[in-house]
Parts: sequence; structure tokens; C-alpha cells
Amino acid sequence: MTIRVAIIGAGIMGAAAAYALSRRGAEVTIFEQFAARHDRGSSHGATRLYRTAYFEHPDYVPILKRAAAGWRELERESGETLLEMCGVFMAGMPENPLISGTVGAAEKHGLSLQRITRNEASWRFPWFALDPAMETLIEPEAGFIYASKAHTALLSGAKAHGAALHENRPIDKWDVASADVGITVDGQRRGFDKIILTPGAFAGSLKGLGERLVKPMRKKLYWTSPENQGFTLPIGFLPFGIEEPDGRFFYGFPAVDSDGVKVGEHTGGAALTNPDDDAIDYSDQAGRDIADFLQRRAPGLSSTTTKEQSCLYAMSPDGHFIIDLHPDDERIVFAMGFSGHGFKFAPVIGEALADLAFTGETIKEFDFLKPERFS
Ligand SMILES: Cc1cc2nc3c(=O)[nH]c(=O)nc-3n(C[C@H](O)[C@H](O)[C@H](O)COP(=O)(O)OP(=O)(O)OC[C@H]3O[C@@H](n4cnc5c(N)ncnc54)[C@H](O)[C@@H]3O)c2cc1C
Repeated sequence: MTIRVAIIGAGIMGAAAAYALSRRGAEVTIFEQFAARHDRGSSHGATRLYRTAYFEHPDYVPILKRAAAGWRELERESGETLLEMCGVFMAGMPENPLISGTVGAAEKHGLSLQRITRNEASWRFPWFALDPAMETLIEPEAGFIYASKAHTALLSGAKAHGAALHENRPIDKWDVASADVGITVDGQRRGFDKIILTPGAFAGSLKGLGERLVKPMRKKLYWTSPENQGFTLPIGFLPFGIEEPDGRFFYGFPAVDSDGVKVGEHTGGAALTNPDDDAIDYSDQAGRDIADFLQRRAPGLSSTTTKEQSCLYAMSPDGHFIIDLHPDDERIVFAMGFSGHGFKFAPVIGEALADLAFTGETIKEFDFLKPERFS
């Protein structure tokens, strides 16, 4: 029997769920409050880091292996290159989370890491200036995702398998009845068999879901001067993550278009009460922090920034994802709290949401992401 599924939110997670469900034969309808692929949420932009030896928590590693397979399958179906497994360069103090967590996850799961001497780091990556005490390594099973192409491929793939996408349709209410579950759209109730909630940083606006667990945070991204356009993958400029001795974590990407090198800070950011709130503007401080980072750590690049963009993190209390059936009704499935590191997982999250919608269960590797850990 075909199941009718409504998905609320067409960010990368809603798109991935729509793709997985429609391929398995579900009748999928996606509702997005803005235009598809808008820039007011978390999923816009050209690139996202991909890493496998996951310093955030080693239990993500098995899920990441499935995610990589999912990206490759989407590449085959869409005909696009989506995942560039070029390696990621990392530097930080050996005892701090980036290096110790990456090494720990690699050891636990038998992943390879190339530990490189400071001498090798300085001739391979001459644009960086690092502290003598920092450890340097390259993770080979890492790289970056062409994010906007990936988002388009998932939405187009879902549509090709019959999913319907309704743009500019904010859903502020869902309900459960004995016969079905419903959402109210344009003042009218529409009934479905299942609802999947993938609202990103807007989770707090949906009753009974993210008010307690998800807090929006605004981050800024910067593109360095076009003088840095030549810092591309072919010259050996790998995506990088550098953790300062004080814990601040900066990352960047090779130039993939005329905007040049993109740099951001994973730590920091402005906590918001409302994700649409533009009142808190911390861009001066964030811009100064990036310029300071570039001057100190990347003197081989121009430290002038020529473009900036906002993006939202949907922070969970512990920085880990929250994925499960709704405690009040098992016909409601949700995935939220991606805390600024979810994009790389999208294909496997889509499959897990499809499993949960079809059978009420998914693979045990997702157990550590259930919300009961907060109770
Ligand atoms: C600056 C920045 C850098 C990042 N870097 C990385 C990285 O390098 N690697 C990585 O893996 N991840 C990274 N991330 C995180 C990753 O991008 C996010 O985890 C991911 O995009 C979250 O997707 P989402 O679908 O949950 O949220 P969103 O993309 O925000 O999608 C949610 C959608 O739901 C819609 N919506 C919400 N409520 C409603 C409603 N009531 N009715 C209708 N529609 C609704 C919203 O409009 C939105 O389109 C980064 C994020 C940012 C901001």
C-alpha cells in the first residue's frame, strides 16, 4: 500500500527524506515556507566539509560510511560530481578536541590518517603559519561536498520519483487524529499517513517539537579577496580545519568559483531567540575574528574579505543530532538539532527517516541520537 507522507521543510534533510521516500514508492508532498533553496536557513552555499574520522563523536563513523555511499549513489543517478574526497588538512594542539578526537575516532574504527611533520606541512601548505606545538595531519577519507548541487540533485531526484514540492507554504500547525495525521495549509487541513518534520533552526515554531531542544544561532561566512582565486584543489590547497590553542575552530575551502577561498568559524556565533531575527548583528566582531585568523594563520593568503553571508546553526543541547519518532504519536517522525555539522550526513539521514516512516525503526547506529538521552 502506498503511504502518503508530508515533509515540512525543504532544506537538505527534507530533500534527502523526500528523495529516499519517493524512491521507495511513497507519495511525498513537501511544504517549504520560503522558495526552494533559499538562503535564510542552513543549507545554502556552494560547499560543506566532509570528514569520516569524526572528532565530535566516534559513533558517527559507521553512519558516515553509509553517507559516503549515499552521495556516490546520488552522483550516479544525477550525473553530477557531489563529493570531492580530496582529503582535509587539520592542525591543532594534540590534546584538544580536533586532533585528539580525530585520532581517537580513526583508531577506534581503523581509519587511516596521514600524520605529517611540521616540515612537510610547511612545504605542502606554505600559505599557513602554525604554532610549533601544533600537530598536523591529513584525513584522506575526507573532503568537501558541492552543497548547492547536492541540494538540487536531491530535490530534482525526489521530483523525478513523483514528489510534489509546495514552496512559500509555511506550516504552523500539525495534528493527529485516529484516521490520519494532518497539517493545516492555506487555512485547510490536509490528511496524511505520516508527517516528517525537518524544520532546521525554525524547529521552535512547530508546536510540541523543538522549543526546548533546538536553539537557533547565526554564523557568518567570509570569502577572501579574489586575489585568492588561485588557491584551488589542483594546486594542492585542501579544505582545512585549524583549532586554535584557545579552542576556537576555523575552517576553509579551496576556491571553487570566482568568489575565491571561503573561511568560517565553527565556534562562536550569535544566539537568537527567533531565527528570523536580524536585530543581533555581530558581523563586525565576526569579520574582525576572521581577518585576525587570516593574518596570523594564513599569511600566504590575502586577509581582505570581499563577501559575507549568514547561515543558521540549529543547536541541540549537546551538539548532536536528534532523530526519532515523536513521543506523542509514532506517525510523526523528526530530525533536527544538526548543530552546524549535519550536511555531510544527508543521504543517510534521508534513509533513516524513510525507515522510520515505513517501519517505525531504523538501523541501531542511530540509537545514540534519540532524544531520550536528554530526559
Ligand atoms: C555556516 C555553516 C557552515 C556549515 N558547515 C558545514 C560543514 O562544513 N559540514 C557539514 O556537514 N555541515 C555543515 N553545516 C551544517 C549543515 O549545513 C546543516 O546541518 C544542514 O544544512 C541542516 O539542514 P536542515 O534541512 O536541517 O535545515 P535547513 O536547511 O534550515 O532546512 C529547514 C527548512 O525547513 C523550512 N521550514 C522550517 N519550518 C517550516 C514550517 N513551519 N513550514 C514550512 N517550512 C519550514 C525552512 O524554511 C528550511 O528551508 C554548516 C552550517 C552553516 C550554517
